[in-house]
Amino acid sequence: MQRIIIPSFISLFTVLLAPILVPAVYITKRLKQSRITHEVSHRDCSNCGNHLGIDSATRAAEQFKNMVQEFKSKYPSMRINFGRPFAAICTHCDCHYDYDPVEKTIVPKPALA
Ligand SMILES: [Zn+2]
Repeated sequence: MQRIIIPSFISLFTVLLAPILVPAVYITKRLKQSRITHEVSHRDCSNCGNHLGIDSATRAAEQFKNMVQEFKSKYPSMRINFGRPFAAICTHCDCHYDYDPVEKTIVPKPALA
């Protein structure tokens, strides 16, 4: 009897919380992206002084997209969900930045090899 109750309770718990959790995750993700966009559009590069702007965030997104496509072409049967490694890449000097959720700002980060 107990074997039946526990999975049923977990399923019921998941079904009841899904309408709350799914929008909460979506909203949290959108808020983080909004903070990154705000930071990037109001910051200058710490390496060269060039204004980062939306172009640097777009460049980071394109690099991530290319990285995912390259990974999928190498390992087509593997399914991995990994996060975006950079929030911005300076369009002038290629300095990479990542979002620090504790400080709520972007910080320089070494480029991937
Ligand atoms: Zn720069």
